[in-house]
Amino acid sequence: MKSKTAFLHKPHDLRIEEVELAPLKPNQVLIQVGACGICGSDVECFEGKSAEGRYDIAPYTPGHEWGGKIVEVGSGVSTLKAGMKVTGDCVMACGVCQNCKDGLMPSACLNMREIGFRPDSPGGMGEYMIVEEQYVHQIPDDWSYAMGAWVETFSIGYFGLWGNGGYIDASDTAVIFGVGPVGISATMAAKTSGATVIVVDPIPSRRELALKYGADHVVDPTAGNLKEQIDKLTNGSGPSVIAEASGNDTAIASIFDIAGHSCRIHLIGHSIGRKVPVELGWTIWKTLKINGSGGTKDFGQRTIRFMSAIKDKYDFDALNTHYFSFDKLHEAMDTAINEKDTAFKVMLQFPID
Ligand SMILES: [Zn+2]
Ligand SMILES: [Zn+2]
Repeated sequence: MKSKTAFLHKPHDLRIEEVELAPLKPNQVLIQVGACGICGSDVECFEGKSAEGRYDIAPYTPGHEWGGKIVEVGSGVSTLKAGMKVTGDCVMACGVCQNCKDGLMPSACLNMREIGFRPDSPGGMGEYMIVEEQYVHQIPDDWSYAMGAWVETFSIGYFGLWGNGGYIDASDTAVIFGVGPVGISATMAAKTSGATVIVVDPIPSRRELALKYGADHVVDPTAGNLKEQIDKLTNGSGPSVIAEASGNDTAIASIFDIAGHSCRIHLIGHSIGRKVPVELGWTIWKTLKINGSGGTKDFGQRTIRFMSAIKDKYDFDALNTHYFSFDKLHEAMDTAINEKDTAFKVMLQFPID
């Protein structure tokens, strides 16, 4: 069986090629892809600005935000069947190395594979993909494939607040930095958990979007002193929870100024590869708790249930500002690269029933 599949050979060299699919191993499922989102990290790899995409080893298929339908299952697969709508984890931990057996995050796996970033792993930018049963999650039949493609993104924002012992409830006031796909997911997760949610972003259209997706208040950090604006909204006490989803240096530095006492700080936005000056001493004087999470752990099923519970309140499909058919992949990438302000999520679509 053949599949038209994209391969990133080197920066700016993304080709759709026809490949012969390998026969299924007993623990694998063959998936026909229905939709695949373009993530900011796909763009960074395409532009050669990130070392996560491993074209230095061999060409690989990008795409870790996907929804599809199972076409065939291997002889040993017991929990999935042909015809099921599915999505899957991004980081694929082996489960048997020392770090996996110690229960560490999948991103600590010593034999880590990663959907959409490595030549030893499949990717969503192709008509078909082959994935092991343990990384595949069924989604409800009434979901669009594009909504399935949002599960991975949503899980990052949701896990950012709730993973590794995190919690948030109606007693909390949360400040979320950055209205990208992950920030908007954290906003929905925080609001649904009952917290008062303040979202910070300098772009007016993004602040408007946040108000539609769970923000109680939005703040323009360029409109004045950020601490004063946040203090005003929190009666001077500052937030009890902060989720940093922008990866922006100014935002990261301001966390330590605006945090309330004993604030639980969750770092989700990427800032690796540079040093960001911060007033770290506030960690001591405010007893701050800082928590980072690279990816998620065991959150696929839970994310699908969470999204099912809120999908009538928040329109996930409306977050896809641009749709392209897979054969227009290069136009889609151009849009994701050049129209960052208006292209909130660029979604590739495949012919599928
Ligand atoms: Zn991503
Ligand atoms: Zn492992």
